[in-house]
Amino acid sequence: MKLSLFDDYRLGVWAADDSIVDATGLLPTWVAPAERMNAVIADWDALRPLLESLATGAGRPAGSVRFQAPQPRPTKIIAAPVNHVAHRQEMIEAGGFSDQPGTIEKYVGFLKAPSSLVGATGVIELPFTDRRVDHEAELGVVLARRSRHVPREEALRHVFGYLPLLDITLRGDEDRPYRKSFDTFTPIGPAIVTADEVPDPAALEVELTVNGEVRQSGSMSGLIYDVPRLIEVYSAAMTLEPGDVIATGTMDGVSAIAPDDEVRLSISGMPPLSMRVVAPRVVAGR
Ligand code: MN
Repeated sequence: MKLSLFDDYRLGVWAADDSIVDATGLLPTWVAPAERMNAVIADWDALRPLLESLATGAGRPAGSVRFQAPQPRPTKIIAAPVNHVAHRQEMIEAGGFSDQPGTIEKYVGFLKAPSSLVGATGVIELPFTDRRVDHEAELGVVLARRSRHVPREEALRHVFGYLPLLDITLRGDEDRPYRKSFDTFTPIGPAIVTADEVPDPAALEVELTVNGEVRQSGSMSGLIYDVPRLIEVYSAAMTLEPGDVIATGTMDGVSAIAPDDEVRLSISGMPPLSMRVVAPRVVAGR
């Protein structure tokens, strides 16, 4: 099943014809609009058959709705740095490091601010006119349940679903959480694809284009820490809450984006994520 939040955070389920059926009426009226995906995850067993029956109908064309981030209120976004050998190699070739860059085994993880999330009909806003900002094509993982000390053999049972995720990155020497947490630096969606439709996340193919030109292309099988290992490692450090998001790391081909670029991220079996890049609206010092 594919689930979205659209317009003023209405809950949508994707029908077979890729139209969006409004399912907001299935949720209690006291659920705050931005908390609707958390409410779906919390009551999934009861809601799933109701959503499946709605998905057989016809809804609004996907092109006519305004997509919000399908999960705008995780308690945290945990991201995997240098989790692909080909990406590490291009970092070495790019140079500028005081030491050789390590891999995820050295850095393990970092947090991105949830306020950096933006939906598929939004824009990526560059914060500065004179600093390089890069795209990183990634698979996002949405947690299904509270998870602590989860062994890798059980880890995929803790996944609610998957989504296209862009880990937008300001290049420079500042710490990663600063460089990757600007508003609009975590576009996700337009839909969460539930885990039952993704039996093996390592089999997913990822492609990112900028203005139609392929910049990143690869398989999730190239990750150093795969999805089960990431859940194992992160849940050993901190409690993962239902709805939390993991950004699993990018492959090679990371490159700069500029105002008016159209960035498009496609992952097998998922509606693609298309974002436009805009220049800073407010130019301010930091
Ligand atoms: Mn990344």
